[in-house]
Formats: sequence, C-alpha cells, structure tokens
Amino acid sequence: MTPGASDAPALEAVDVTRAYKMEGVSVQALRGVSLRVDEGEFAAILGPSGSGKSTLMHLLGCLDRPTAGTLRVGGRNVAELSDTELAELRNSRVGFVFQSFHLLARTSARENVALPLVYRGMPRAERRRLAVQALTTVGLEHRVGHRPGQLSGGEQQRVAIARALVGDPGVVLADEPTGNLDTRTGHEVMDLLERLNHERGMAIILVTHEPDIAARARRQIHIRDGLIERDTGA
Ligand code: ADP
Repeated sequence: MTPGASDAPALEAVDVTRAYKMEGVSVQALRGVSLRVDEGEFAAILGPSGSGKSTLMHLLGCLDRPTAGTLRVGGRNVAELSDTELAELRNSRVGFVFQSFHLLARTSARENVALPLVYRGMPRAERRRLAVQALTTVGLEHRVGHRPGQLSGGEQQRVAIARALVGDPGVVLADEPTGNLDTRTGHEVMDLLERLNHERGMAIILVTHEPDIAARARRQIHIRDGLIERDTGA
C-alpha cells in the first residue's frame, strides 16, 4: 500500500511489543498487540492499572516506538521515520486530550489552542483565526481570552479538545478525558467527542475506567497483562 494513502487505516499495530528496562530487568508492558483502527471509529480502551493502556496510547500517538512489531500511523511505518519525521507525523495526524487538561496556566484559551500550529510554521494571524474557529466548534467562542484558571473543569477540557482538533488530525487520543469531571460534565464532554467523531470523521480512542463512558464508544478494546483480551471491533 502507498505510504499515507487515504485508504490506509488511521492506525495499525501488528504484533507490537514494548519492553522497558528497569535496573537491568526487562518489563514487558505490551506483549504482542495487533490492532487496526479506521478513520471515523470511536473506541474505548479498558483494562486494570498496569495492563499497558498508557504504553499503547503513547505508541499510537507517536510519542514512543515499539520494541518489536510494526506500527503504522496514517499509513506510515514509524520504524522507517527519523525522530523529526515522527514528531511531524504526530503533529499532523494526532490530537491529544488528557485527564488533567494540560493547559498552560498563564495563557489564554486562544493561545493554548493555537500552540500546536506554531510547530507547523503557520503565521500568527492564521493560527489565531483557526484557534477561534476551534473554540467556536466546542462552544467557547465567548471565552477565547480567558485563562484556564478562569474556566470550569468542563470548559478547560473543551479548550483541550479544541487544541486537539485545531490541526485537523485523523485521530484524537484521549487518556481518561472525563476522569477529573463530575458525571454530568463528563457526559457533556462525551457528547462533544461524539459530535466531532460524527461530523468530522475523526477517529477517537479513549482510555477510561468508567463503564458508562466506555459503553458510549462503538468499540471496546479490553487489555490485560500487555495483551488484547477482547476487542468488540476485531
Ligand atoms: P496502564 O496505563 O494500563 O496503567 P502502563 O502502560 O502504564 O499501564 O504500564 C504497563 C506496565 O509497564 C506496568 O508494569 C508498568 O509498571 C510498566 N511501565 C510503564 N512505563 C514504564 C517505564 N517508563 N519504565 C518502566 N516500566 C514501565
């Protein structure tokens, strides 16, 4: 298949392993994971603490590389990319949302959202225009000049979602995006992710411990001891 071809899966892992070396001892965090995620999918990753969820999310997000096996992101084999190319792939293909929002505290919502575009060398006026557009998409057009501390938890997570989508990625990876929110606000954030998935066709993969959040995804991937135990979409 042509690298980066549009019919390539958004993400594809084939027999991926990841071992960490700790004081000379090797810990196998992933022991052979095969997974294909197509554009427009909405999947939840579930599993006990220590089962390898974060390790898998880091690999899928091009923050890390497999020890063995093949990982393709947007049709590109990450093993064939330099560190710079991998960072470019990450910046163009993947948006991240975190449990604790990870916003810059002294910076406005607009500047937080515009940040990923800085690395693309985009002119400032264009960055600001796209940031306001993304904030409008998440219903925060009236908060563009607010700093994170002036926003509620749900609003901060919506700013983080705007930052994830501003670069128009094929995939959004969300690590417990509702973990710091009350139940109602968590479901509002899920409503927003669902809408973006539906309207923009972005694949969304989220890690969650909450069964009612996981149930809202169309696919559930259960991980245990570094292996996929069950995948409703396989
Ligand atoms: P989860 O996200 O499901 O809690 P992780 O992917 O964080 O699981 O961890 C999987 C396994 O890998 C655990 O045994 C963990 O201790 C180990 N691990 C994770 N990151 C590192 C690291 N940087 N160095 C050493 N061991 C690690």
